[in-house]
Amino acid sequence: MSDPGPAPVLAPPPGQQDDVYLIDPGYAMIFTYTWVSVAAAAILYRLPKLYRRMRHAWRRDGLQGWGLYEDLSPLAPEEEKEALIRGSAIKRTDSFRWVTVSTPVRLVRAGEALFRNTFGWEVKYLRLNVGQLFLLVGFTVTLLLCLTLNSELVLNSNRAGFMVLSLIPPVFLLSTKNSPLAFLLSIGYEKLNFLHRWGGRMMFLLAWVHGALWINNRLVNGQAYLLLTEDKERRGIATISVLTLIVLTSLRPVRIFAWQFFFTSHVALYVAWFVCLNYHTPYAIPWIYPALAFYGWDISVRLLRFRVKDASLLPIDDQMTLVHIPDAVGGWRGGQHVRLRILAGDLAFQAHPLTILNAPASRADTTRTQGMLLGARVNGDWTRALNKLGKTGAWVMLDGPYGGVCMNPKERVLLVAGGSGVTFTLGVMDELISAVEGGDRRLREIEFVWYIRSYDCVSWFVSHLQALALRAHSMSFLDLRVRIFLTCPCGDPPLLLSSIPDCAVSTSKPSMRELVLPLLEFELEDAEGVKPAMGGGVGVVVCGPERLVRHAQNAVARISPVGAARAGGVEIHAERFSL
Ligand SMILES: Cc1cc2nc3c(=O)[nH]c(=O)nc-3n(C[C@H](O)[C@H](O)[C@H](O)COP(=O)(O)OP(=O)(O)OC[C@H]3O[C@@H](n4cnc5c(N)ncnc54)[C@H](O)[C@@H]3O)c2cc1C
Repeated sequence: MSDPGPAPVLAPPPGQQDDVYLIDPGYAMIFTYTWVSVAAAAILYRLPKLYRRMRHAWRRDGLQGWGLYEDLSPLAPEEEKEALIRGSAIKRTDSFRWVTVSTPVRLVRAGEALFRNTFGWEVKYLRLNVGQLFLLVGFTVTLLLCLTLNSELVLNSNRAGFMVLSLIPPVFLLSTKNSPLAFLLSIGYEKLNFLHRWGGRMMFLLAWVHGALWINNRLVNGQAYLLLTEDKERRGIATISVLTLIVLTSLRPVRIFAWQFFFTSHVALYVAWFVCLNYHTPYAIPWIYPALAFYGWDISVRLLRFRVKDASLLPIDDQMTLVHIPDAVGGWRGGQHVRLRILAGDLAFQAHPLTILNAPASRADTTRTQGMLLGARVNGDWTRALNKLGKTGAWVMLDGPYGGVCMNPKERVLLVAGGSGVTFTLGVMDELISAVEGGDRRLREIEFVWYIRSYDCVSWFVSHLQALALRAHSMSFLDLRVRIFLTCPCGDPPLLLSSIPDCAVSTSKPSMRELVLPLLEFELEDAEGVKPAMGGGVGVVVCGPERLVRHAQNAVARISPVGAARAGGVEIHAERFSL
């Protein structure tokens, strides 16, 4: 497309303020300054997390850490073992009695907990927590103010058109897998996706306000024929139609039942939309450039981080397939996910997200799995076809890693999984145990909870669970309790289950609150007897079906601020296997 040059100053429609083409872009800019300022404030708030994450990644992987890597250096086991032993120990700050904590510190901690609890409460059916709703309301109110202040919307709805343009950069910034914003906030792209979806819906509504009022304007002025004869009008109708198609093909049912259709149509339609939009208005160009820059950045980073590796595929039964990539030895953490493409037949046309269920192991440690492990539960066509490949080798293409847990160190961690969500909690648990083995003594207790259908499903990961439990139990200062809750006690218990220390299986289903509350009790025994102490923090990590995740979030949100403060703070990370 040739360079259209600067946007011309068009004559305003009859009966309008003379300077609408100066005023309206100004409001689009005000909206832009507002969301950029909010994003900058959030980045500043999360800066310590970013610093900790970068420092950790640097120590662990050095320069190689920007992507998955294979270690080709000669093996020097003795040296590596020594480095492990020397690992500088980070000691836990010992608990101290709650009554000795000064009132201002108690108040600050309780205020922090109240803030977290209020914003962490998830609203049923909306799949959003109060914090996310708050953000959305702020976003919508700012848009509405920019839309209505100093505008004569009914006579000239161009303001709505300009507001659509101003939404293009944030909607693209929030859509990409390698979003600079997600990186700076130290959160996975999938956690920002709700804003992308709502931004898109706002665009759709505003585009219809703009289009419908213009159509009305033409109709009441007896100029309906212009809608079919004038280029501007025809291109406007094409633009709004394509945007409507984008919204319709991305509704939740389409994403659930026809993901590939949703994905392909989304990419094709937004390109078509940009073309229509460019022909419709010369004011679009400056807003499209940032969007293209975000998208270009995403594609470039992905190209640099794509890896093709050998993998072994191992169906455990007809419901679960393990994928082992022995040469991907670093550049990732357990609990992160990669987008996997199997380079075999039809499977090569689709990439699917799967979570890494182990942590990288030192090459000297021959007792642990080397490389990356993924577990894919049969869910639809692709996962079934993967399972049907049988025990075989294949080339795989990996994109990532993405996401993962970024939590401050805690004294106690509760890991809760439902069904195949256990791939996530296993990966996180491996990371936690590896950190303790590496010298970090801040973690004392892990409670691992798995809600699962039957013993048959337990057998998918029983050997991993056993290996992790044995590692944890070899360290006297770390307690690991495994609790498995079965929906039905059908099938035979896997043999290895009985060799997992401190493991209980039951068919009862405790509520999330019953799991969380006991973790808040910290006590200190001193000369004066057992007294409440201030704990070193509690972390809750949950992954599984929608209901389970919501219940966990709300159980944490219901903790009293004083209780949370006394425990040293309660933080939750909720993961869902859906976008
Ligand atoms: C971040 C993340 C991590 C995941 N980790 C695991 C894991 O460790 N183990 C596991 O068994 N499953 C995991 N899943 C789910 C897994 O990706 C889907 O089960 C798989 O993509 C289904 O593909 P299918 O063709 O077999 O089924 P389909 O019938 O096509 O889809 C079943 C469901 O998966 C969703 N889905 C399909 N394709 C994609 C895609 N490319 N991207 C996102 N969602 C998709 C659909 O919306 C639908 O809800 C994860 C999903 C996400 C989003």
